Amino acid sequence: MERMMLQLVMREEMSGAQSFLDYVETITPGYSRLDMCIQCGTCGGSCPSGGDMDHTPRHLFALIRADMKDEVLASNTPWYCISCYLCMSRCPQEVHITDLMYTLKSIAIEEGHVSENTAANLSETFLSYVESYGRSFELGLATRFYLRHHPKESMGMAGMGFGMLTRGRMVITPEKIKRIGQLRSILNRAKELEAAL
Ligand code: SF4
Ligand code: SF4
Repeated sequence: MERMMLQLVMREEMSGAQSFLDYVETITPGYSRLDMCIQCGTCGGSCPSGGDMDHTPRHLFALIRADMKDEVLASNTPWYCISCYLCMSRCPQEVHITDLMYTLKSIAIEEGHVSENTAANLSETFLSYVESYGRSFELGLATRFYLRHHPKESMGMAGMGFGMLTRGRMVITPEKIKRIGQLRSILNRAKELEAAL
């Protein structure tokens, strides 16, 4: 509890006075080694989601160092990170890249940047299905995402969706996992711990 209180106080103090780099480093658990990044680009070259990202991890870290907080928080990069840890295993400076992506998502949510970000909304919808059913529901996920962000294109997706349904590649209603209560207890505990930080 004492450690959590200390982190909370540090987070409040850092958010007002110091650089964005310092703030990100402070609220990332452990030593993120972000200040050790040498901009080699190995992370971006390794990332399977790199093609969809607004910025490579390397570029994002350069923006953090340049104190370009708004650009960083508006970027879809952390939301496209699938936590594969490939970049971390290859980084010559052992920067905790994946952990930093979690930190940036947390700050973006806290500071209200997610509403402009389609990737964040997709992530939130995905989580809402996991919380309700214990697993994703592809039809609901795609329908909600396209109707909200790409309503015109949604009609064009209908044919593909129908084909997947008739071939049994997608289900028409969500299916709940067994012992969903246990999963909810774990998720609720995780939220409590996160709120205390
Ligand atoms: S691989 Fe590591 S050192 Fe190289 S740019 Fe990425 S974070 Fe920086
Ligand atoms: S952990 Fe995230 S940023 Fe790193 S390679 Fe995987 S998807 Fe890319």
